[in-house]
Amino acid sequence: MIKTVGILGAGQLARMLAQAGRPMGLEFVFLDPAEDACAGEFGVHICADWDDESALKELAQRSDVVTFDFENVPESSASLIESLCPVYPPPRALYKSQDRLREKTMMQELGIPVASFFPVASRPDLIAAVEKIGLPCVLKTRRFGYDGKGQAVLRFQEDLERAWQHLGDFELICEDFVPFQAECSIIAARGKGGQTLFWPLTRNLHRGGILAISMAPAFDDQLQSRAETMIQSLLDHLDYTGVMALELFLVEGRLLANEFAPRVHNSGHWTSDGAHTSQFENHLRAICGMPLGDTGVSSPAVMFNLLGEMPAYSVQQAVDPYPAPGLNWHDYHKTPREGRKIGHVTVTADGETELKARVAQLAGELGVATELNLEAIMSQAGE
Ligand code: AMP
Repeated sequence: MIKTVGILGAGQLARMLAQAGRPMGLEFVFLDPAEDACAGEFGVHICADWDDESALKELAQRSDVVTFDFENVPESSASLIESLCPVYPPPRALYKSQDRLREKTMMQELGIPVASFFPVASRPDLIAAVEKIGLPCVLKTRRFGYDGKGQAVLRFQEDLERAWQHLGDFELICEDFVPFQAECSIIAARGKGGQTLFWPLTRNLHRGGILAISMAPAFDDQLQSRAETMIQSLLDHLDYTGVMALELFLVEGRLLANEFAPRVHNSGHWTSDGAHTSQFENHLRAICGMPLGDTGVSSPAVMFNLLGEMPAYSVQQAVDPYPAPGLNWHDYHKTPREGRKIGHVTVTADGETELKARVAQLAGELGVATELNLEAIMSQAGE
């Protein structure tokens, strides 16, 4: 019987896992070097570095099972914990996801379509890769890239030298630029016995490399089933337990995999308000050996990430006059900082007309309507 869940990382994902787990009777212990980590108020916070052996041992000793809210935990730390306590998802999944070259090679070997790619360790490697792929292409660091950081799009020959000056100190991967019609993600939960459930393929819009808006359901059954096949082969190959997200590009009717995250994912936040069981609850169910909950949609949903600071209460009131249902504000209680993910709001509604109206009003209040083509989003969401 699992009573205490340990989490490596105490950011907003750990916070939302704990919020889902407390009503299930679970208790939480977090390890995170940041003193003010926002999950801390939901359990015991061991404040230490990711490679602090005594802190890692303490986390393992206090926990019945350990999981992650962050994938860049050193592999040696995950292995040390695994020698003392069960760890899910398996550290092997973490290890694969930490390096884009290992990750893409694994996907290619599993027959999952990906954009063509080449490792780049030197300037001649870069020149050779660009010759093979052609322009435009994307140069990315193999490790520690997130939210569009550590990458450059090469459109012209003269971009090569500038990108090399900027990124040449790192191990790199060069990949084909995908002229996608849409970005999407499939999120799945796999239980210990291999039972796998999927949430609907979610459409994602990024701004400045950071997720801005997610909406679901947004695609037809054919794409859904193709995305399910892709993530299922990853889950089975890794003998995975827990929730995984696979980010995809939709290009000319085809799905190409970009990267997977061995954890709950920002593009699945809508499931807390729009699905019968959230990604957070099902991750906990999976790692605790419980049966998975229904991943069906309870209401179509559109999620807006909130960056920098929470909108003023007056803005919240303007679009959410009490007691109107359907606007779900999530404040991570983080110190405001420009560009920082500090919360999200998910709009739900019974029908498409109402959803469209509420989304348009909210986007206007938040000041994102002019930068994102909402009509295009909604027509896609309604397909
Ligand atoms: P990533 O760090 O790989 O998730 O990339 C961040 C964002 O950059 C993605 O969500 C896409 O919007 C864009 N991007 C990444 N790789 C490519 C690619 N090969 N072609 C076109 N856009 C890309």
